[in-house]
Amino acid sequence: MAALVDGFGRVHTDLRVSLTDKCNLRCSYCMPPEGLDWLPAESVLTDDEVVRVVGIAVRDLGITDVRLTGGEPLLRRGLVDIVARLAALEPRPRLALTTNGIGLARMAGGLAAAGLDRINVSLDTMHRATFVALSRRDRLDDVLAGLDAARAAGLTPVKVNTVLMRGVNEDEALDLLDYCLEHGLELRFIEQMPLDPQHGWDRDVMVTAEEIVATLSARHTLTPVGERGSNPAEQYLVDGGPAVVGVIASVTKPFCAACDRVRLTADGQVRNCLFATEESDLRTALRAGADDAMVAARIRAAIAGKRAGHGIDDPLFLQPIRPMSAIGG
Ligand code: SAM
Ligand code: SF4
Repeated sequence: MAALVDGFGRVHTDLRVSLTDKCNLRCSYCMPPEGLDWLPAESVLTDDEVVRVVGIAVRDLGITDVRLTGGEPLLRRGLVDIVARLAALEPRPRLALTTNGIGLARMAGGLAAAGLDRINVSLDTMHRATFVALSRRDRLDDVLAGLDAARAAGLTPVKVNTVLMRGVNEDEALDLLDYCLEHGLELRFIEQMPLDPQHGWDRDVMVTAEEIVATLSARHTLTPVGERGSNPAEQYLVDGGPAVVGVIASVTKPFCAACDRVRLTADGQVRNCLFATEESDLRTALRAGADDAMVAARIRAAIAGKRAGHGIDDPLFLQPIRPMSAIGG
């Protein structure tokens, strides 16, 4: 099997599959308060189509890791069954899920039993009022219950994704770390990226990875762990370990040179980068009767055209038309 390689020699082994563009939160860095025009149901890939594409990816393209995301993937009907079918593929991919945690208290056990290996839960604040201001919904308790259930279900590690925003939750880095240390969760901070539909992102006010490390270092000893490789997070041992904290400097220290990711949107478009301005239409090919070799060739062609980097610092940078929720984070 030939690996999925781009023009810069980067080998792609990580497929991110968005299962829906819908969401039950409205995080300000991701969605406008009124939501978006959701994809028409008929354009969303069916369970069979998703399983077929992932099957081709693991058998013919060397994909070893699959992450299910959205929108909010727990809103996808049939999610547990999709996970079970993906876990039955040969070779079996490692299966991960990124979720806002709402409904996870109910679903974590079933997902783990179906074969989910790992989970990332997004949590930006420990304060109810801030949660409401940030996500425009009063659901903090559901997220915390979801985190407990994920641990109890044996999903390991349970990672927590946090985006800090100036004047909103930037003062919570230490409290979030304390919470995660106490509850056996692995925290990762992600620099906010220009993927909001309101185009309100401003590099000058963004909370940087450097600032986050400085804030955490005021109370903890952080020791860098090894090379970052294709892992976007710089990892640090906290107070000598074994607990670690990650900081993803997606903007200030991009990991594009080691990127191994390819994305499939809920409506079946292949994206070779979060910031890609072009997509390759797999859905039409699938529904026009393309055989597995043709589907694989399309994905290869999409990766062959991948740019060297996201170019956020380029004066000609254009934010992609799809916001984060519609791409799949
Ligand atoms: N709804 C799920 C969730 O919130 O985890 C999955 C989809 S969400 C788009 C995936 C991740 O992207 C979340 O951790 C979220 O915080 C992050 N995210 C969304 N918009 C972002 C942005 N503009 N910059 C950085 N991270 C962002
Ligand atoms: Fe929904 Fe996740 Fe976007 Fe928040 S970050 S609005 S939870 S898709």
